[in-house]
Order: sequence, then C-alpha cells, then structure tokens
Amino acid sequence: MANNLTKKIFYAFLLGIIFGIVLGYLPPNLNIKEALIGFLNFGGEVFLKTIKMLVVPIVFFSLINGVANLKNISALGRIGVKSIGIYISTTFLAISISLLFSNIVNPGKGLIQNFETEELNVSNPPKFLEVLLNIIPENPFLSLVEGQMLQVILFAILIGIAISSLKNMNSLKKFFSDFNDVIMKILSIIMIIAPFGIFCLIGKTFATQGASSIVELIKYFSLVIIVLLFHVFFIYLPLIKFYGKIEVKKFFMGIKEALLFSFSTSSSSATIPVTLDCVKKNFEVKDNIASFTVPLGATINMDGTAIMQGVATVFIANLYGVNLLFFDYVSIILTATLASIGTAGVPGVGIIMLGMVLGQVGLPLEGIAIVMGVDRFLDMLRTSVNITGDTMVTIVVNKSESK
Ligand code: ASP
Repeated sequence: MANNLTKKIFYAFLLGIIFGIVLGYLPPNLNIKEALIGFLNFGGEVFLKTIKMLVVPIVFFSLINGVANLKNISALGRIGVKSIGIYISTTFLAISISLLFSNIVNPGKGLIQNFETEELNVSNPPKFLEVLLNIIPENPFLSLVEGQMLQVILFAILIGIAISSLKNMNSLKKFFSDFNDVIMKILSIIMIIAPFGIFCLIGKTFATQGASSIVELIKYFSLVIIVLLFHVFFIYLPLIKFYGKIEVKKFFMGIKEALLFSFSTSSSSATIPVTLDCVKKNFEVKDNIASFTVPLGATINMDGTAIMQGVATVFIANLYGVNLLFFDYVSIILTATLASIGTAGVPGVGIIMLGMVLGQVGLPLEGIAIVMGVDRFLDMLRTSVNITGDTMVTIVVNKSESK
C-alpha cells in the first residue's frame, strides 16, 4: 500500500472511532442517529463487497503465477522436497500456535456484536475425512463460481505445477503473470475507497458498541505480536541453533539487513535480493540452494501472515459471538496454511486473504475492516517474520545438503 494511503486509512480509522463514540452517545430515539448509522452501514457494505469481489481472482491468479514460475519443479528433487516440507510444516505450526494462544487470551470476547449467530453455527459439522475429500473439486469451474476456496487453491496449484513442468509455456506464464498484475492493479484502485470504507465500518462498530472496542482491539494487536515473537524464538531459533549449528546472535547479525529491509518495505518479494545476499555472504549458503529456496520462500512461506490470520479469525469469531467448533479449527488451519501460500509477497495482501479464511468458516467479512485499521504495523512485523523463516529454512537445507 502506498504510504499516504496507509496514513489515510489510519486517520480514517481514528476518525471513525471518534465519530462512532460520539454517535453512540446521542439519544437512541433521534432520527438523525438512525440515518447516520444506516449510512455507515451502506458505506461499509460497499467497501466489503468490492473486497469480496477480489478474493477468488487474487488466490487463483497469484497462486498459478507463483507456482508456475518456480524453476523446474520436476528437477528439484531433494532440495525441493526438503524446503517445501519445512516451509509448509512451519506454517502449519505457526497457525496452530496462533489458534492455541488466541483461545487462551480470547481477544474480542468482551465485545459481542449484534449478529445472527444462529446462521453461522453449522448444525452437523462434516467429518474430517469428508472435509479432506471436499478439497477435490468435482467441477473446478463451479468451485470458482461458488468461491469454494480450498478447491480453487488445489486446482490453481495443479495448473501452476503443470505449467512449470511443461516446456514452451512462456506465453502462458506471461499471460498469468500479466493477469496477476491486472488483479493487483484493481486491488490498488479499490484501495482508494478503503479509508472511506474503514471510517464507515469502524464508525458503526463504535456507535453500537462504544469505547470498549478499543480494549479488545489492543488485545488483538498485542497478541499477534506476542505469537510472532513466540514463533521466532521457539520454532525458528532452535532449528537454527540445533540443525543450522549457528549461534542465535550470529544469525540475527547475519540477516539484519534483510530484516530491516523487509520491515520497512513490508514486502517479501522486494526483499529477495537482500535476503539472497545475506545468506550467501554471511552463512556461505551455496548459490544453487539459495537461488531456489529464497524466491520460493518469498512466494509460499508466510508464517507471519498465517499467525495474523489465526488470531484475527478467533478475534472476529469472538466479536460476533460465534463458537468455533473442532471442524472449524481444522478448516482454519488448512485454509490459513493455503492462504499464506497464496498470499503475494507485497504489502497488505495478507489482510485481504483473511477474507478467504473467514469465508471458509462462515464469518462475516466485516471483521476485516476492524483489524485493517491496525494492520500496517503488523504487516511490517509479520513480513520480517516471513523473511526470518525464509533464511532459517535456507540455512537448514544448506547445512543438511553439505553433510
Ligand atoms: N506483506 C507480507 C509479505 O510480503 C504479506 C502480507 O501478509 O500481507 O510477506
């Protein structure tokens, strides 16, 4: 997101809080109060519908594009299996840890929105195997139309793999890459109305809930940061120390440029050259390994993003008084793992992809607006965590290859 748009979103967020609180204090029988809340509702809906419109195309095109551009998937062999295996299992762990923490802290619990909870609770949750079976689409085009995200993801990955393993696919690759650019451009156009949408949605929340919303939002914000740090210290660092045989201090000193760069750009993709330089210069990672694992990591490895999505989903469920069932958690873990794979390594996409996770468990997209106002700083932090993961996996794979 452009810098001044970020500022506008933040100001709109603050303004929405103030406007909402003031509106909330007006006497309930006032006509103007009802009219204003109705207007905020409308403005918010407009923004949400435009975001919703983009979720399927973003996932579909960015995944095909990302996977199709991986160099020579079929010839990857050991390095590929190892790095993809670690990337996916750490993301899986990241989202599981974030759900665990979220269930202990329960951000948003103190604040129930007026929402038809009955509509959301699935009366007979499908069985686990049924869920797995359901990932395979009977008709992939129907999945696209109906927005069946897991099915769309599976199909997109298969197309990507097929394109990458076939010869002479350059024009098709270019088509998907261009189309991906087009979707990203549409996203940036839509983002022009984001400050207005955020203002309306936040205004409405605070007008109906009052100031107590702030406490819950701070809880959400702090919890994401805590889980991000936990993941780095208790998952990445032990792997670096025991498998990579590198001291923690040396590790951080060696990747500090990449950390700073990712923090300030909020973009894993833009950081690729710096990450490559760090691992090659400071940890003597072989060129053939780094040049595969680093770009791959920047495309599919987004543990920080998955963590935010996990905490945000529980936060939003609490906010709307929705009880998540066991099946929902399985679904969140699967979807967030896949959503983070499908997230483009550029600023602010993770929060749009949150829509996919929310949709999968039947939560209202409106929740995105509540967390979007505080997402800028979290994006900077989670991108640095994403990059730390990429370097960790690169170093560990390099070590295991040199044995
Ligand atoms: N900005 C993140 C990255 O580039 C993606 C996201 O979570 O928005 O890694």
